[in-house]
Amino acid sequence: MTRIRLLAFALAALTACSAAAQESGTLAPKPLPPLANPDDPKTPAKELFGRKTDPAPLSARSIGGYARGCVAGAQALPIDGETWQVMRLSRNRNWGHPNLIAFLERLTRRTPQINGWPGLLVGDIAQPRGGPMITGHASHQIGLDADVWLTPMPDRRLSRAEREQMSATDMVRPDRLDVDPSVWTPGHTALLRAVSREPEVARIFVNAAIKKALCREAGQDRAWLTKIRPMFGHNYHFHIRLACPAGDEGCADQDPPAGDGCGAELDQWFTDKMLHPKPGPPRPPMTMAQLPPECRRVLVAK
Ligand SMILES: [Zn+2]
Repeated sequence: MTRIRLLAFALAALTACSAAAQESGTLAPKPLPPLANPDDPKTPAKELFGRKTDPAPLSARSIGGYARGCVAGAQALPIDGETWQVMRLSRNRNWGHPNLIAFLERLTRRTPQINGWPGLLVGDIAQPRGGPMITGHASHQIGLDADVWLTPMPDRRLSRAEREQMSATDMVRPDRLDVDPSVWTPGHTALLRAVSREPEVARIFVNAAIKKALCREAGQDRAWLTKIRPMFGHNYHFHIRLACPAGDEGCADQDPPAGDGCGAELDQWFTDKMLHPKPGPPRPPMTMAQLPPECRRVLVAK
């Protein structure tokens, strides 16, 4: 990727899950007020998808691209499993394509063997019908993206209040140039390596300082570094992106990344422009016309 394309891509994703994981939630979320003119074609799609509290009762499909699409027949990750707990329940974003939900359950069950953690804390996956969100992410729209905390699941059930208020750990040094050695552990590297080796995983996004640590710690076998790519934020959690489910026509895969992504490509992330990016003018929100036409069916399905 050229320097300019990299910057444009990175800035476009600037809001993607940056501070969102650390915003605390509330035990008594207020439902959004009904829209006065939901059929107005200018209505932002996030206002429509953000008001859906249940999945579209259609067969499971990821439709469109990771940052421009929706999901039919989504499943919820149960808020508790033996080896996982869902955080920020008030957001109702624990929905995903059944492939992703099954993947997360399998991954968390393996976590104790991977790095000794009791399990994983799961942040945002997607809204019940996917689509753009009122707060937080540019992607996470087709039920194939999930944020997982870089903090181990504790050895006890967290209360609902703790799940709204507890903060994850910032893994990056205040100068953003490297990980914080007082919190970064070999267990983090082991987990990211294991997730990256899963064939269904297309990408993992981490903060550039974390990528730097992985490049340093990978040793001889570097193939697993390819899927792990730097992104703004992602210093409290990492982002797992699965490839499109087999046979899901209309689900748009990204081109596979090349190389280990270390070296010069990574160095660009530590330039002043990238460390202190100036966000461009706000973009007009996406409307239904900009999403795949089938997302309209997903939105209204009863
Ligand atoms: Zn994310």
